[in-house]
Amino acid sequence: MNLLQQFLDGFVRVQGWLLDHVVQPPLLALGLGSYLEVAFDGVEFFLYGVLQLSVAYLLLRPLEALRPVEQWTDRKAVRVDVLYTFLDRLGIIPLAVFALLSPVFLGLEGWLRFHDIIPPQIEDLLPSLEAYPLVSFFIYLLILDFAEYWRHRLSHTLRWWWALHVIHHSQRQMSLWTDSRNHLLDDLIGGAWFAIIALCIGVPPGHFVGLMVAVRIVENLAHVNARISFGRWGEQMLVSPRYHRWHHAVDLPPGRAYRLGCNFAILFPIWDRLFGTQYLGEGMPATGVRSPELASPAHADRFWVQQKDGLLGFGKALRAALSPRRLP
Ligand SMILES: [Zn+2]
Ligand SMILES: [Zn+2]
Repeated sequence: MNLLQQFLDGFVRVQGWLLDHVVQPPLLALGLGSYLEVAFDGVEFFLYGVLQLSVAYLLLRPLEALRPVEQWTDRKAVRVDVLYTFLDRLGIIPLAVFALLSPVFLGLEGWLRFHDIIPPQIEDLLPSLEAYPLVSFFIYLLILDFAEYWRHRLSHTLRWWWALHVIHHSQRQMSLWTDSRNHLLDDLIGGAWFAIIALCIGVPPGHFVGLMVAVRIVENLAHVNARISFGRWGEQMLVSPRYHRWHHAVDLPPGRAYRLGCNFAILFPIWDRLFGTQYLGEGMPATGVRSPELASPAHADRFWVQQKDGLLGFGKALRAALSPRRLP
């Protein structure tokens, strides 16, 4: 038996044990047996989160210790990002997003089925791909990354969305944990965006977890506090810490504002190159946004203050966008 098979068997055994001994008894005691299937997926998500975070931590934390861009004596601001990461990767935020979105998506799926609309899968269009699961995995990854590029770019372009996304950018101590630092409403919108695209292109369930783990390790790497670049050619292939650091730079290159920024790509810099948003800067700039409120200690390490500020900014931007003064 090969190593991968042994690993998968062990994974299923741990998942079964957790379900039987930790999750199932309270669910049955509360008369919530109908949620067992969701609980099974939840446990799987949790275990993959533990696995992904362990790999990210073991690989990336030593890089931060060996080649730090910045040394911080006070790591309080990093701690709030650790909190965001655990809530996100171990399933608390995704579970809430799933609970809020699943009725909408069940309705949408039902409507599609009722009207005999079956979203085409890539394998339907290119049947020969069935024999090459790795190639089809890569095509799905490319399509999802293209959609993520536009989600990210729009979150900088639309003022109401930027009011939420600015929370991600307000971190001055950027580290491997910063990837999950997002406003909860931004997570909800991002979750809906991803789910709609995944539904439209018919991502096979078997690919889904693999796609998520792959994307997330690169995302953690992109935020790492380490002096790492992939060189001029490498940075055309995959987003590096230096490449994404320029996306977070306090002082952006001439002609670029925070909101309109540069380097929006999540995995593949090709999108920035194609759509004219690429900036291949030298050095490792300081990160954050030039806003006295967002840089203040009252904001820097406080989860609920960040959530409140994001919502207030979002409401203000939305009201301004809908204001009759803007109408002709
Ligand atoms: Zn951004
Ligand atoms: Zn980022």
